[in-house]
Amino acid sequence: MRAPARHRRCPYLEQILKERAGPFGLLTRFKADCHVDHRTHRFTGRHPNPPCIGEPETCSLYQREHRAEDERIRRYTD
Ligand code: SF4
Repeated sequence: MRAPARHRRCPYLEQILKERAGPFGLLTRFKADCHVDHRTHRFTGRHPNPPCIGEPETCSLYQREHRAEDERIRRYTD
């Protein structure tokens, strides 16, 4: 039996939209508005798996912002 996937929403995700894409609308596209770089990231495929609603820890933008936050907290508490 497979362990259920753990899906988590990224704290830096502002909004995510899901739409059909590709020929005959066979594909799925997610459009994620990211608070870190203020850009819209697109994830398209048969079963796209955006880190924004899956595993944000795998995203370099998330890692960068998370480290920066830790650093700010550390400086504040020192
Ligand atoms: S997972 Fe990455 S791209 Fe998606 S909202 Fe979070 S920081 Fe932005």
